[in-house]
Amino acid sequence: MKTSRRNFLKTALAAGAALSVPAILAPEEVQAKTVDKPIYELTKDFGRYPQKNHMYTRMFWDKEYVAYRATLKQRDVSVKDEHDSMALAVAAWWDHNNAADWNCYGIPAQSPFMRWDDPVITMDEKYAEAYNKHTTIITENAMIWDDTIAPNAFQAEPEVFSRKVKNAGLFLGAFDVGIAKLDPRWMYSDYFDFKEKVSKPWPKDPAQFKYIVVTAIEMKNDPIRDLQSYNASASVGLGYSNMVEVASALAKFIRCLGYPAIPIGNDTLPTVPAAIEAGLGELGRNGIIITPKFGPRVRLAAVLTDAPLMPDKPIDMGVKAFCKICKKCADKCPNGCIDTATEPSDKVYNISNRPGVVRWPVDGQKCFDFWRMNRTSCSQCIAICPYNKVKGTAWFHDITPTVLEKFPIVDKTIFELDKVLGYGLKVPFEL
Ligand code: SF4
Ligand code: SF4
Repeated sequence: MKTSRRNFLKTALAAGAALSVPAILAPEEVQAKTVDKPIYELTKDFGRYPQKNHMYTRMFWDKEYVAYRATLKQRDVSVKDEHDSMALAVAAWWDHNNAADWNCYGIPAQSPFMRWDDPVITMDEKYAEAYNKHTTIITENAMIWDDTIAPNAFQAEPEVFSRKVKNAGLFLGAFDVGIAKLDPRWMYSDYFDFKEKVSKPWPKDPAQFKYIVVTAIEMKNDPIRDLQSYNASASVGLGYSNMVEVASALAKFIRCLGYPAIPIGNDTLPTVPAAIEAGLGELGRNGIIITPKFGPRVRLAAVLTDAPLMPDKPIDMGVKAFCKICKKCADKCPNGCIDTATEPSDKVYNISNRPGVVRWPVDGQKCFDFWRMNRTSCSQCIAICPYNKVKGTAWFHDITPTVLEKFPIVDKTIFELDKVLGYGLKVPFEL
C-alpha cells in the first residue's frame, strides 16, 4: 500500500509523540552499547594485501586510471559557473596536499607517510620538488615518522594514559578518539613507491606497533549535501587537511611523552576496521564507518604507538540491522556500486576489494569510474545516509538515531519519514 505524505507524517508524528520522552530526546547522539567483538566477520581468505591494489594507488600504475590522473593535474580551476566551487575545493585540500606531501588530488607522491627510516628526499630536494609543483611547504614534514622521542617517558597507568591521549586528540580537533590493539593482518603487506611505481617491502614492518589510536573528524555538512559537486569535494578535502593536523599533532604529543608514535592516514592500513575495533562506530552498507554523532560524515586518521594504553571495545548501535532494511545508499548510488543484497557477504568485484571480509561490498572501481565521468568526487552515499543528521535543527534529526537504536521495529517508518521529509536530495551550496 502506498503511504500518502499526509498520512505518513501523521503516523510518524504520532510515533514521535509517543516516543518523545526525555530519555529519547535528551541524548546528543546514538546510545551505543559495547560488545566484545566487532560486528563484521573475517573468513579464512582474509590476509594482508598490497597497497598497490587500492583503488587510489591504481591511478599510478593501472593504465586505465593513469590517464585520468594526468587530466586532473592539468585541470583549469577557473571554469565558468564552477569557478568558486573549484577554488574552494582546492583551498580545502591545500593543507593536506602540502603538509602531508601528497599531490594535489590526495595521492601520496612521495609521502612521509611511507617513511620509516631517514627521509628518502633531503629537505633541499623536497623544496625543489615543491617549487616544481608550484606549491609551498607549510611545514617541513607534518607527518614525520622519524622525529625524536623525549628521553624521559611519562609514567601513568594505562587508563590514565589513555584518557590523556584521548583528551589531547579532542583538544587537537577530533570529535572522538578510540584505542585498539593493532591487528597486523589489516596492514598492507607492502607499500607502493609512488615515484618508481612498484611495490616494495616495508623498511620496518608497521605491524610492530602495539596500539592504534584512531581519531574521527567531522566533515562539514552543508557543502557535502551539494551531491556530486566540487563543494562536496571541498568538504572532503577539508576533512583530509584536518586529518593531517590532528594525527601529526597527536603523534607529536605522544613522542613528547617519550614513546614512539607515527601518524597515518589511509596509507598504511585501511583505518575503518581499526576505528570499529576502537569503538568509534559500526560499518555501514556504504563501506564507511557510521559514528553515533555524525553518522558516516567523518574522516579517520590514526597514530601507531607503543605508549602504555588501554584498548576500547567495539560498539553496537544497530547499524547492521538498519542497513539491511534501508539500502538508501545502494538505491541512490549513481553507478550502482553498493551491494543491494539484504545479507552481507564476502563477494569481491575486482582486485580493489580485499578478500575474506564479510560486509556489503562496494565496487571501488565503478565508484571511481563515476568520478571520472563526473570530473570530481561524489560523496552521495555519505550525504544521504539517514544517520547523517545535524543535531538541534529539528526534533526529527534529534530523535532518529536514538529511535533506531532503541526501537528497531520502527526502522522502516523512520526510513520512510526520512524520504518524505526530503533527506537525500541535492541541496546546492552557496558561499
Ligand atoms: S561515492 Fe558516489 S559513486 Fe561512489 S559509491 Fe558512493 S554514491 Fe556511489
Ligand atoms: S544509507 Fe542506509 S543502508 Fe546505506 S549506510 Fe546509511 S543506513 Fe546503511
